[in-house]
Amino acid sequence: MSNDYESDRKRMVEQQIRARGISDPAVLSAMLRVPRHLFVEEESRYRAYSDAALPIRENQTISQPYIVSLMSENAQLNSTDRVLEIGTGSGYQAAVLGEIAREVYTIEIVESLAQQAKRKLADLNYTNIHVKHGDGYQGWPEQAPFDAILITAATPEIPKPLVEQLKEGGRIVLPLGDKPFSQDLLRITKTSKGLKKEYLAGVVFVPMTGEVRK
Ligand code: SAH
Repeated sequence: MSNDYESDRKRMVEQQIRARGISDPAVLSAMLRVPRHLFVEEESRYRAYSDAALPIRENQTISQPYIVSLMSENAQLNSTDRVLEIGTGSGYQAAVLGEIAREVYTIEIVESLAQQAKRKLADLNYTNIHVKHGDGYQGWPEQAPFDAILITAATPEIPKPLVEQLKEGGRIVLPLGDKPFSQDLLRITKTSKGLKKEYLAGVVFVPMTGEVRK
């Protein structure tokens, strides 16, 4: 029997990801491997590999495959890296990171989503991915410092604790902005002279909630 999802994934990588300029072989092979259809709701499974963000529970979304690949590539990951993700959601982005980096720590503020993602990632044998329920604003100090941090919810500012938990030379990729339907996807690099900011793309993410709004 043929594996339809595998051919769907190949098409996704060729038409949505490689065609738009993503070229890091580790990112491309991670996108080919992670079974995205297992991270979406059953009723959306038929379009799991389409060029779109999709709804998950608790009014949240799983990002568009291209955006997942763009954030992963711009985190400039190495196979020995330790990565922090804020906004576990479905766990899909964490799984992609887990294919590329050594250890992935991911924090989700909605408890039911954190539990569901933890179970899914364990079922798929991602033993290098660690899920925690909580507000990502404070990061994960016990596991710091990190080589890279991905924030996958829109934030009006870069949480200070996250900058502190980043190694020198480390990268934060995040959607920055206080408008609900448009943010700037940025890469912030921590250098000896301060933070270097680069604009990557215009994006739309669900809002980061919790302490950053206070
Ligand atoms: N990376 C996810 C998609 C993220 S959607 C995936 O691959 O599926 C954004 C997620 O961030 C939502 O699940 C939302 O609940 C979570 N979130 C929002 N504010 C947060 C905060 N302060 N700390 C941790 N998670 C947060």
